[in-house]
Amino acid sequence: MALEVLKLRGRGFIALNAHPVGCLEEVRGQFAVASSIDGPPVPGTALVIGASTGYGLASRICAASAGMSTIGVMLERPAQGTRTASAGWYNTAAFHELATGTHRTFNADAFADATKVDVVDAIAALEPAGLLIYSLASPVRTDPDTAELYKSALKPIGVTHTTRTIDLDREAIREVTIEPATDEEIRSTVAVMGGDDLERWVDALLASGALRADAAVIAYSYIGPEVTWPIYRHGTVGRAKEHLEVAIARVNERMRASGGRAFVSVNKAIATQASTAIPAVPLYMSLLFKVMKAKDVHEGAIEQIVRLFDQLGHSGSLNLDADGRLRLDDREMRADIQEAVATLWTVIDTEHLAMQSDFEGFRRDFHRLFGFDVSGVDYDVAVETDIALPA
Ligand code: NAD
Repeated sequence: MALEVLKLRGRGFIALNAHPVGCLEEVRGQFAVASSIDGPPVPGTALVIGASTGYGLASRICAASAGMSTIGVMLERPAQGTRTASAGWYNTAAFHELATGTHRTFNADAFADATKVDVVDAIAALEPAGLLIYSLASPVRTDPDTAELYKSALKPIGVTHTTRTIDLDREAIREVTIEPATDEEIRSTVAVMGGDDLERWVDALLASGALRADAAVIAYSYIGPEVTWPIYRHGTVGRAKEHLEVAIARVNERMRASGGRAFVSVNKAIATQASTAIPAVPLYMSLLFKVMKAKDVHEGAIEQIVRLFDQLGHSGSLNLDADGRLRLDDREMRADIQEAVATLWTVIDTEHLAMQSDFEGFRRDFHRLFGFDVSGVDYDVAVETDIALPA
């Protein structure tokens, strides 16, 4: 037993603890949204790589709500001594508490070959995977062949970039200047966030019959508006995402003849542990949320993945762009929304941050990632922090 009254600890966009009851209520809320899903969109088990937070968690909740068995892979921290578990750990405990059906979680390095072997073994006891969702966001990867440690960098390529961003500690807008990535940083970021590991998963699963020949393989990506391109789309992470897109096209080519398909889903900007670390993106999101809420088209991860499941289940209705990517970011990228955000971007300053942006909503979303600021949770009550996952 480890009962504790928990208040959010951290600074800026770094949170050092998480609240188990808040996480449970957040996951419960996502299950409520996903309850509209009407049966599995594809046959077989759903395998979600990066299943404990953000888009991966929403995907796993949708799969379970559709009646699919799921396997989730994540890298999260259990409670230790005076430290709470990580939010993803509590989310996953909540997932197992609320989901019906058969679900297995692997808390292990998704990049490691040993994890792939363990997952293949686990699938042998279930139906082969008919849905593979690749939703990893990681700062590092150890190369399984060479043991080289790659570290990803969030940097522009070829140019020094100065952009506006939010200083969360001071609640102020300030400028940051980011130097261009070195060739080594570009190579390393592609090795972490590109398509190598996805293809290794597909190889391992297909070779062992753990992936149906007619499976849907989906990797998540982001494009966003031009103001973020120097740091995102045209930067190191964007280079990695291009690599991922090429890998997905290869997987698609490989699986097409047997009725399988692989595609990238371009999702909307939402506050997650990964996205809040990108300079300029928190400011952009604060403006975007303001505009999308005013037009009543704002969405979180779960609403989008419900749409993805809906489209996946009705073959032929996938909202693909000319490059074969599913566009769940269609509402974010609507011309009227982007024009309104671009106008606000040029005029926003610290003094008007509260009025002209949804900084409050964005900050609350960030707190909710860790189970804080969740409606209906009494944060003065001591809660059990040492929560086990099913064996
Ligand atoms: P996130 O930080 O919320 O989730 C990352 C997941 O990866 C977690 O489940 C974590 O446990 C897992 N993970 C990290 N390293 C791991 C490892 N070595 N082994 C096993 N699991 C590991 O991230 P997110 O924002 O949901 O991003 C997921 C995907 O969605 C990314 O591809 C991202 O580019 C994409 N995406 C995000 C946004 C956004 O605004 N957040 C928008 C569009 C697309």
